[in-house]
Amino acid sequence: MKSINTFEQLLTECTSQGKRIWQVAQAYESEWCEVPINKMRQVATSSLKAMKEAIRSGLNSTEMSMSGMCGDDCNKLQKRFALRPAIFGKTFEKILTYSLATSEENIRMGKIVACPTAGSCGIVPAVITAISEEYNISEERQVNALITAGEIGRIISARVPLAGAVAGCQAECGAAAAMAAGAVTQLLGGEPRQVLNAVALTLKNILGLTCDPVCGLVEVPCVKRNPFMAVMAITACELAISGVESKIPVDEVVDAMEQTGQLMSPALKESSMGGLARTKTAVKLQSDLFS
Ligand code: SF4
Repeated sequence: MKSINTFEQLLTECTSQGKRIWQVAQAYESEWCEVPINKMRQVATSSLKAMKEAIRSGLNSTEMSMSGMCGDDCNKLQKRFALRPAIFGKTFEKILTYSLATSEENIRMGKIVACPTAGSCGIVPAVITAISEEYNISEERQVNALITAGEIGRIISARVPLAGAVAGCQAECGAAAAMAAGAVTQLLGGEPRQVLNAVALTLKNILGLTCDPVCGLVEVPCVKRNPFMAVMAITACELAISGVESKIPVDEVVDAMEQTGQLMSPALKESSMGGLARTKTAVKLQSDLFS
């Protein structure tokens, strides 16, 4: 079996076989893991259902996290949108509320799908679900998009560990945004080259994003970072699907991400020793919380 460890190899396979990314990915995964394709798709379908359940549950809760720092922001947005629609309309409303709903479920210790991590769990589900509802996209096509997102995450993680402690938040929320950008580009009928351009355009805009969680908890800035990244994924999709291309090839962007992670100070990699985590307010919050 030919190994696929770079986006260039993935694109070559898509082009030579005349297939979409999800088709190449599911065949590769099936062969690699010795699991029939239909079984693999069943797992992906279960994950998709769990993502939607987390959204549903998060939309209906205002329960705060144990720290009391987060938990009711999604509700605030829903109340405001009931009075005045969001500036960019219904799809935008859904992307913001769905991503917050899932992130808030995570900080309540609810059931979420880490995609790729718990801190970044709101981005991929919000984008796939909101766009699919607005464009009436079938479950089968949503699973195709999720498999596309998974393949993007797999290839990035082959070079950059997807952990804030190793490469900063660029490797968590950044990778999630890239996965979401690729997934939505696939959902809207983008060609493999456009999907990979959406990935490159997204990653270029999150290089250097630090991981500096307040009180060492995956709450601030993590929860609110999810809707911002979900919107970035849509921006990348719109650019890519219009034919805008990244001047730097996607594999080189991933290399830059890996190098940036190495150059980043350990104080900004989940240690809560720098950045937002060491602001006057964050230090006071920490002292109040743990005293
Ligand atoms: S700031 Fe750190 S802990 Fe929070 S989501 Fe980003 S990588 Fe994860």
